[in-house]
Amino acid sequence: MTFRVAVIGAGLTGLSCARVLRQAGCYVEVFEKDRIIGGRLGTARIGLTTFDHGAQYVTARSKEFSDYLDEMVATGYAARWKPKAIGGVGEGQMSPWHVGMPGMASIVRPLAESVRIQTSKAVHTIQREDEGWKLWFEDGTAVGHYSAVAITVPAPEARLLLGPMQEMAAPLSRVRISPCWAIMVRLEDGIFPDQDVFSDMSEVIRWMARNNSKPGRKGAGEHIVIHASPEWSREIEDADPEVVATEVWEEVSNTLSLPPVRPDQMSAYLWKYGLVDTSLGMTYQFSSQHMVGVAGDWCLGRLAEHAYESGTGLARAMISSLF
Ligand SMILES: Cc1cc2nc3c(=O)[nH]c(=O)nc-3n(C[C@H](O)[C@H](O)[C@H](O)COP(=O)(O)OP(=O)(O)OC[C@H]3O[C@@H](n4cnc5c(N)ncnc54)[C@H](O)[C@@H]3O)c2cc1C
Repeated sequence: MTFRVAVIGAGLTGLSCARVLRQAGCYVEVFEKDRIIGGRLGTARIGLTTFDHGAQYVTARSKEFSDYLDEMVATGYAARWKPKAIGGVGEGQMSPWHVGMPGMASIVRPLAESVRIQTSKAVHTIQREDEGWKLWFEDGTAVGHYSAVAITVPAPEARLLLGPMQEMAAPLSRVRISPCWAIMVRLEDGIFPDQDVFSDMSEVIRWMARNNSKPGRKGAGEHIVIHASPEWSREIEDADPEVVATEVWEEVSNTLSLPPVRPDQMSAYLWKYGLVDTSLGMTYQFSSQHMVGVAGDWCLGRLAEHAYESGTGLARAMISSLF
């Protein structure tokens, strides 16, 4: 018998979960609300220029994730990034920094092979019926039935999907995730200082990187990604993106004493559930009674590696229960 499993969310957690389930012989379907896969391992395109507006690089502490990154490098989906830095950021890296090629979203590409993924499908509700689990989408359509469901979306959204399964939903209320405004700027050459990464520049700016210093990025000029601090991002969560981009660029210009130039392009994007402040403190949650599990970086921390560990962990727990 082939078990059908639904995975909600096509970020690193969902896709690493899907791959392990698929390798065990399950028929896996992934449903993603966005038009594209990758989640916070995002690559945005503005005109002809691409920007890694979410995760900047990934690192590996465990052998399993390190092996995965080696596989990525060997297949050309990732490469090592050694940014030029002043004042210690990125220097003497404890673990090598890897970036997706040609953009961060490529980190999930191999995981997506041989699983069925439906994008632009926002799951609204999961419903238990005698035949198994049925998924209802925001567009009013439904699919089913599945033997098990893996929910791999940010904790506040996972709580809503768990609905009446209170014993699973309640612990998720202790998870805290901060928003993060990401600003993408394209500049002419010769204006920006000779440094690739900047950290904690001011109360407004947490991180800034010269995206075009990463291997495999193309396009003329300087491509800069700026991440605003969680506190500032929270304060202006509802602001107009154009206003946010202008304010942040002014802050950068003042902090670095740049000449008064207008960037060729400027855009801002809000990661509503961006960086995890308080995690769940366990790798995943799984109920063999309901055959429903939840996973995400927020189970363990705020890094891509946590997402991978959580997704693969949940898949293994499901497999032990299914077979
Ligand atoms: C600004 C920023 C900088 C970061 N920098 C780094 C870094 O340098 N290094 C590092 O290791 N990590 C970094 N991270 C963290 C890293 O990006 C995450 O840990 C990782 O990508 C989380 O993966 P995930 O699959 O758990 O979640 P996500 O990537 O958020 O995936 C969840 C997916 O579920 C989808 N979804 C949500 N609700 C529904 C629904 N109802 N139906 C269907 N789909 C749904 C979402 O659209 C999304 O694609 C950063 C994150 C941000 C935001």
